[in-house]
Order: sequence, then C-alpha cells, then structure tokens
Amino acid sequence: RKADVECRMLVLGAGPGGYTAAFRSADLGLDTVLVERYASLGGVCLNVGCIPSKALLHAANVIDEAAHAKDYGIDFGAPKIALDALRGYKEKVVGQLTKGLAGMAKQRKVRTLQGVGRFVSANEIEVTGDAGTQLVRFEQCIIAAGSQPVKLPAFPWEDPRVMDSTDALELKDIPKSLLVVGGGIIGLEMATVYRALGAEVTVVEFMDQIMPGADTDLIKPLADRLKKQGIAIHLKTKVVEAKATKAGIVCGFEGASLPAKDTYDRVLVAVGRAPNGKKIDAEKAGVAVTDRGFIEVDRQMRTNVPHIFAIGDIIGQPMLAHKATHEGKLAAEVAAGEKKEWVARVIPSVAYTDPEIAWVGVTETEAKAKGLKVGVGKFPWAASGRAIGIGRTEGFTKLIFDEATHRIIGAGIVGVHAGDLIAEAALAIEMGCEVEDIGHTIHPHPTLSESVGMAAEVFDGTITDLY
Ligand code: FAD
Repeated sequence: RKADVECRMLVLGAGPGGYTAAFRSADLGLDTVLVERYASLGGVCLNVGCIPSKALLHAANVIDEAAHAKDYGIDFGAPKIALDALRGYKEKVVGQLTKGLAGMAKQRKVRTLQGVGRFVSANEIEVTGDAGTQLVRFEQCIIAAGSQPVKLPAFPWEDPRVMDSTDALELKDIPKSLLVVGGGIIGLEMATVYRALGAEVTVVEFMDQIMPGADTDLIKPLADRLKKQGIAIHLKTKVVEAKATKAGIVCGFEGASLPAKDTYDRVLVAVGRAPNGKKIDAEKAGVAVTDRGFIEVDRQMRTNVPHIFAIGDIIGQPMLAHKATHEGKLAAEVAAGEKKEWVARVIPSVAYTDPEIAWVGVTETEAKAKGLKVGVGKFPWAASGRAIGIGRTEGFTKLIFDEATHRIIGAGIVGVHAGDLIAEAALAIEMGCEVEDIGHTIHPHPTLSESVGMAAEVFDGTITDLY
C-alpha cells in the first residue's frame, strides 16, 4: 500500500512532550510530521491542564487577596463574579499559547496532521480524522500520546454532574456544593478555585495526608489556610458508592469523619491519570506496553524498538509538563544522531495552591526511610521582612543536605511563589552545590528568595556561622 505521507520523523501527540520533540527535530533538520487528534496543539497541559488551571487560580488568588486587604484597611467589598467573562479570560490565555504553537510549527515547516493515530507496522501509522484516513510512513517516531484522567467505576459518569479535571476546568457553573475526590495537586488546585468562586467544597483523600509525596511539615500551612477558607478536608476517607439522584450525587463514605452518606451538587474525581499506551496499537509496531499502559524506555528515551522513542506522561511518573518537554528535546536530539542521554538529577514538583508547595530531590521522609544521614536547614518566613510585608508569614524554606559532604540533595518550600523559588534549589542539586555555596550567595533584599539563602545558614533551629 502506498503511503499518503512520508517523513523522516513522526511525532504522535502534540502535548508539551510532543510539540517540543517535533520542533527540536525540525530544528535539527529532520523532516517532521506532528499528529494530533485535536484541532489545537498543546495537549493536556495547554488546553485542559497546567495553563487553564493557573489562569483560574490567578482569579482565585485575587479574590482571596482582596478579602485579606481588609487587614490593612482596604475594603473592596464582596466580589461580583461574571462567570462568562472569567471563562473567556481562561480561554484567551489558552488560545494565545496554542495559536503561538501553531505559528511555531508553521515557521519550522513541521507538518501537522489532525486525526487519531494508530500504528499499522513499525514504520507506519494510520491517521483517521475529518479528512478520512491517511497512511503515514516514517523512518523514526516519538510517541508522546500522554495520559487521561482515571475514571473510577464507582461513579455515574454518564451524569454531567460527575466531573473529571477537564470538565471542572470548563467552569460551566458554580455549584452550591462540590465534593472533590482526591487531595492531590489537581484536586486541591480545583478545590481552591471553586471555593474562591463561592462553592462549599469538601475534599476526601484516601491516604493519611493531602498532597501525598510532599513532607508533612510543608503541608501544614496549606491545610491550615484551606481550613480557614472553609474547605473541609477528610483524610483516610474513601468514597464507596455514588448515585445520581434528582437532589444531587449521593455519595457513600468509608472513613471516620464524614456521615455515611451525603449529597452534593457536583463531584470532581481527581484521583490520578492513566497513560494512553493501550490506545495506539503499539503492539503492531512491536513496542512493548506494560499492563497499566506505560511504555518503558531507556536513558535515551528509546523503546524496545530502537527507531521508536517515547516521552512524557506515557512513559511514567512524575506526570509533569516540564519532565515531558525535557524528554521531548532529548529524544529528538538522540534521533538526530546526537550522543546524549538523560542526565538530570531531579525534577521539581509544584502544587499551585495558596500557599504553594514546592519540593525537589530527596524529601525528609525519604531520607529517613532510606537511613540517609542528612542535615536540614530551615528558615521560617515569620522572620522574612518581605513575607511580613505581604502578610504571608506562614511559609518556610528548607534545604536538605548530605551530612558528610554538605551537598544539597533536596529542598522543600511552602509559601506564596514557592514554585518560582524552588528553581534555585534544583540548580544547586544539578551543580552539586554545597549548602555553604548557597549561604555565600548574596540574595537580594527584601525578597522571598532570601529565605533560600537563610535556610542555608540556619541548621536545625540554630544559626550557624558558615563563613
Ligand atoms: P499530553 O499533554 O497528555 O499530550 C498528549 C497529546 O496526544 C494530547 O494532545 C492527545 O490529544 C494526543 N493524543 C493521544 N493519543 C493520540 C492518538 N492516538 N492520535 C493523535 N493524538 C493523540 N503539569 C505541570 O508540570 N504543571 C502543572 O501545573 C500541571 N497542571 C495540571 C493540571 C491539570 C488539571 C492536569 C490534568 C494536568 C496538569 N499537569 C501539570 C500535567 C501535565 O498536563 C502533563 O504532565 C503534560 O501535559 C504531559 O505532556 P505529554 O506531552 O506527555 O502529554
């Protein structure tokens, strides 16, 4: 059968991993085709993930800030929310970025094909879209088909009052009551948005802490603030049944602190994401897919089929956009013949809640579990002039370093802009910095970044002179 399209490089999926891989491979001179089932490029992150959620969180933060301005004598009154305009703002932000990507693809002469791609062989993919089915023959391929929300079978998904994160970001209306199932990053970000817009929000989390993965001391300031905002959080609680009724979604719980059953106007299920590995007929290309739908790769992002690479959410945790872009660039460079492999030591995690929580490298919990001998430098923001000035002293910054070598191996920050501040610690780890290097670095005053410098000088509560 004759191919409709031939190319050197085919990239399947146009999320942060896929578009980065396609752009890099075109920049390196490979004739590149980018296949995406949706009309707009950008994948989950730009269309229904990182970007729209952050636009809405910005609005939530403004509402919260305005409410707190009363503390220093400014009363903006009760917010009036025009939901259509807010939705429009979110869509404008997304549109600006996705249009930008379309322009960048064109500029680089990356051919984009809209349709669902499925492998036919190790060198062919069939793309089915509005224009019919096209057979694309490629020499090399990068699979970047991402992930989708886990749909727990206990919920009546046919009812529009049961939402996944994509539905919740549509912001169709603000329910009177919302149950968020899952106290991870996505669940808590959306809980923050809906609470700020006026919903009564209840969060249930199966584990014994919200934000599993982060150290418990980082979580406390967030948990306290969420409570003050009126978000009810129930740990060690499981939804065991959910039924659609006229009055709402009736949910049954197993756990200590909630009634056995309660009714909610809407339910958001945010319990994680599942990879799309089983939906692309990878076996026809000979690419191995695990039972859970992940594709395994080596340090060069190669699958078991040497000319086929895989990147992003589809290859495993952490499912984060900045991991996907880093892998996308690497895969394209390796495919173009560069002798490279994965060398990054750490991948930072950020929850864009209020306050934000950010962590990178080894956590204190992990250090303890592994029996590592570490020192911890911790600086409370109650002693930061900037944090006091903006009325946000609940935060703190901690650095975790190897006791023998003093090399930084981890960091955790809770507080406003923690996500921006964590980058310095990531750089420190990549560069093999000793804690003294950070202590010796002059940080500008008065900034929150000073807290990183101060954490390098305050070990276990006592100020140590490192000079
Ligand atoms: P995706 O972004 O999932 O892109 C895959 C693309 O492939 C999609 O466009 C899909 O349509 C397409 N595709 C799949 N199968 C086919 C097929 N057969 N044919 C054609 N096209 C196909 N990460 C962060 O780092 N920071 C954040 O703040 C953040 N916030 C998030 C908030 C939410 C609500 C959600 C849901 C996720 C968030 N994430 C965040 C995670 C982030 O969105 C993902 O890690 C990232 O998008 C993964 O990129 P990817 O390229 O692997 O895949």
